[in-house]
Amino acid sequence: MAKIVLNKENYFHNLEIITKQTGSKEKTAVVLKDNAYGHGLLEIASLAKEFGITKAVVRTLEEAKKIESFFEQILILAERSYSTYSHTFHIVVNTIEEIERLPENTNVHLKVDTGMHRNGITTKTLKEAILGLSSKNLNLTGVMTHYRSADELSCDFFFQRSVFNQVKKQVCEICEQLFLPIPKFHSANSSALFRFKNFDEDFARVGIAQYGYLETNPIFDNPKLKPVMSLWANKISTRTIEKNQKVGYGGKFIAKEKMEISTYDVGYGDGFLRLNGEHKYFTPKGYEVLGKVSMDNLSINSSDEEVCIFDDVKKLAEIHDTITYEITTTLMPGIKKVIK
Ligand SMILES: *Cc1c(COP(=O)(O)O)cnc(C)c1O
Repeated sequence: MAKIVLNKENYFHNLEIITKQTGSKEKTAVVLKDNAYGHGLLEIASLAKEFGITKAVVRTLEEAKKIESFFEQILILAERSYSTYSHTFHIVVNTIEEIERLPENTNVHLKVDTGMHRNGITTKTLKEAILGLSSKNLNLTGVMTHYRSADELSCDFFFQRSVFNQVKKQVCEICEQLFLPIPKFHSANSSALFRFKNFDEDFARVGIAQYGYLETNPIFDNPKLKPVMSLWANKISTRTIEKNQKVGYGGKFIAKEKMEISTYDVGYGDGFLRLNGEHKYFTPKGYEVLGKVSMDNLSINSSDEEVCIFDDVKKLAEIHDTITYEITTTLMPGIKKVIK
């Protein structure tokens, strides 16, 4: 069966670079949503814990419950029906209306829209939101925002940062008036974190960088991260084909000479996005994926028992005209994970 190998040395290498940039392990929250971007929620949570990380970010309550014992604090980004109480869980509130639905004593991080216009309350409704939280006995433990173009060469990032600095000031004033404790402030994802000269927030929410990638414009002085995931497949069968014989659906690959080829047990059904035979793709050992990828297998000019299909997804992202995030996140959770 196909498997995903997680390289622990590379993961720790990335966390070293990230924690150096944030200033400490405590100021680093690892984003583990969507099965840790396809890497395996429990596997990455256990590695992060072993490294000394104490904070995680997930999408749902279900994910949070699975890793509750690994972390001191878990931020839940998008749970609409929240009914449990846990000291460890902090839930993100995106609208004033949501406040009504939360049970007393829930830890809340208030998301503020500073210019992305996707989620979060407007800066004008800060006081209304904080009053609402306090009247419902909810604990305001954090205030956050998200940048729309931290990975691009534009001044948007600085504009949003200045808006968020204003938000921080206002929140502190409101909390002082109401005798509420000052919440934690956080805004940075991976790209934004590496654009701070001196990172001065309470923590950063780091997703893709821990897995070894950054989509930030190369004009910035980006850190040397190492991909954590590699995908391996096992041989199903081998055959010899003659010159001009065709391989796979549509006969997209045509042999230029007699050659030995094999099929391996990975396909788009495993979430390995379909190569359509229009682009050449080579495995790390230099084998070529021949023709179109099928649902459960693909053909390669190799007869090795096991081949590494990728140990870096940048090339695949380029071929599929997408970002590295999508290549790893589409991999099915059912693929076996091995930590090495
Ligand atoms: C996914 C997500 C992140 C992590 O983003 P990366 O670019 O992977 O570092 C941070 N914050 C929020 C709100 C997110 O949804």
